[in-house]
Amino acid sequence: MTAQEIMKMIRENDVKYIDLQFGDMFGRLNHTTFLAKNFDADQIESGIPFDGSSIRAWKSIEKSDMIFRPDPRTAFIDPFREQTTLVMFGDIWEPRTNERYDRAPRNIAHKAVEYMKSLGLGDQIFFGPEPEFFIFDSVRVGTSPQSSFYEIETIEGPWTMGEDGHNLGHKIKHKAGYFPATPQDTQMDLRSEITSHMEDMGITVYLHHHEVGTAQGEIGIKFGDIITAGDLVHKYKYAVKNTAYKYGKTATFMPKPMFMDNGSGMHVHASIWKDGENLFAGDGYANLSQTALYAIGGLLKHGRAIQAFTNPTANSYRRLVPGYEAPVKLAYSATNRSAAVRIPYVDNDKARRFEFRCGDASGSAYLNFAAMTMAMIDGIRNKIDPGAALDKNLYDLPPEEAAAIPSTCPTLEEAIDEMLRDKDWLTAGDVFTDEFIEAYVGYRREEEVEPIKLQPTPLEFELYYDV
Ligand code: GLU
Ligand code: MG
Ligand code: MG
Repeated sequence: MTAQEIMKMIRENDVKYIDLQFGDMFGRLNHTTFLAKNFDADQIESGIPFDGSSIRAWKSIEKSDMIFRPDPRTAFIDPFREQTTLVMFGDIWEPRTNERYDRAPRNIAHKAVEYMKSLGLGDQIFFGPEPEFFIFDSVRVGTSPQSSFYEIETIEGPWTMGEDGHNLGHKIKHKAGYFPATPQDTQMDLRSEITSHMEDMGITVYLHHHEVGTAQGEIGIKFGDIITAGDLVHKYKYAVKNTAYKYGKTATFMPKPMFMDNGSGMHVHASIWKDGENLFAGDGYANLSQTALYAIGGLLKHGRAIQAFTNPTANSYRRLVPGYEAPVKLAYSATNRSAAVRIPYVDNDKARRFEFRCGDASGSAYLNFAAMTMAMIDGIRNKIDPGAALDKNLYDLPPEEAAAIPSTCPTLEEAIDEMLRDKDWLTAGDVFTDEFIEAYVGYRREEEVEPIKLQPTPLEFELYYDV
C-alpha cells in the first residue's frame, strides 16, 4: 500500500483517528494518536517527529527528537476502538543524520535481513511464530516493601474449587488441557472472538486450540518475512489482550505464571529462501539441506547466548525446566519436543523448515528473529556441524549422557553473561551494535535481574518463616 492508498482508506472508512504504534526494546507496544482530518500523505512519506526521551532505554532528554516513518503495508482498522481508528506500525529514524535509529528493534531486524542478503546467503527469511498465552478471570498483584503476592483466579483447571458451582465436574485435569472439548475448554468462544478480530486486523489465522496448561491457549497464524513476522507478534498479542480485556478477563504472555503448570513458549519456524527456492529443503536428515543443518548448528552453538534475546525475562527461566514440554537441551530432532530444535513433518519442499522451541513471547519478537537470523548466518558461513540428531526424550537421559549435551541457561543473568562472552556473531555487520547491547543489558540487569534478587518471595515465607 502507498501513502495515497492509505489516505483513500482513511476517506472511504471515515477514519477519525490514526494510531501510530511501535515496539520498544523490551517488546512493549507504544502508541500515539493523531486526528485523521489533520493528517496528510506527506506525513506518511517524510515521517512524523516525536519525543523519544521517555521510552525505556532510548534517548536521553537533551537529544530526544526522533522521526516515526509509518509503514503503509501494516495498516489496519483497530477492531477494539469506539471511534474508527487506523493503526500503522513503522520505523524510527534519527532526524539529524537521517539514519535508522540503532536501538529500534524493527530496525535491527531490517539490518539482519540486509546483512544476510549482502553475504549472498539468501534473499528472504521467513518466520512462523507460535505464541502461547494464558487468559485468567482476574489477577491480583502486590509488591511493596511490606508485601509481595499474586493471586490468579480462573474457573478452569484442577486447582480451582468451583466456589460458585461453575465448572464442577468439568475441569481440565492437571497438564491435560490439550485438548478436551467444551465444557472443559471454557475459552473456546473467547478464542473464536480473538480469531475474528485477528482476521479483521489482516492476520491469516488457521486454527485455535486450548493448550496443555490451565486456561492456556494458542492461535495458529500464517508465517511472514522477518519484519511482517515481528509486526504479527505485536498484533497477535494486541488482539489477545484487548479481546480478553473487553470480556472482563486478563491475558498474559509471561512465560511461567503458574507454578507446576506448563509455561507459555513462542516456538519459531524458520526457513531461508533464494531466487524463489527454499534453501532448507534437501536430502539430509529429515529432508533438510546441508544449509539448514548448518543453520541449526549456528543456533545450537549460540543457543545459550541467544537466550538473552529469545528468553529475555527473568521469568523465562522458570519455563525452561524439565517436564513441561519446554526444551532444556541444545539438541535437534525430528520428533522430540524436549529438544531445542524440532523438524516438523511436512509433505513438500516449500514447507520444509525447522522449529526453534526455546523462545517465548516476553520480549521483542524483532530482536528474537534478528538474533535467530544472525545465529543461522554464522552457522551457514562457518559450516557449523550440529552433530547427530537426538531422537529420544531428553528429560529422562541417564546423568552421564545428559551431561554431554549442553543445556539452556538456568537464569537471565547467565544468559546475559554468556551473550557478552559470545557476541561476535550478533555484532557482525554491525547488526546488533555494542552500544545497543550495552543499553539493553544495562536495563535488564538494573530493572529486572538485580531487583528480583533483592525481593523475598511468598514461597520463602512458607519455607523459612518458622526457622
Ligand atoms: N507450552 C510448551 C512450551 O513451553 C509447548 C507446548 C507445545 O508443544 O506446543 O514450550
Ligand atoms: Mg503450543
Ligand atoms: Mg510448535
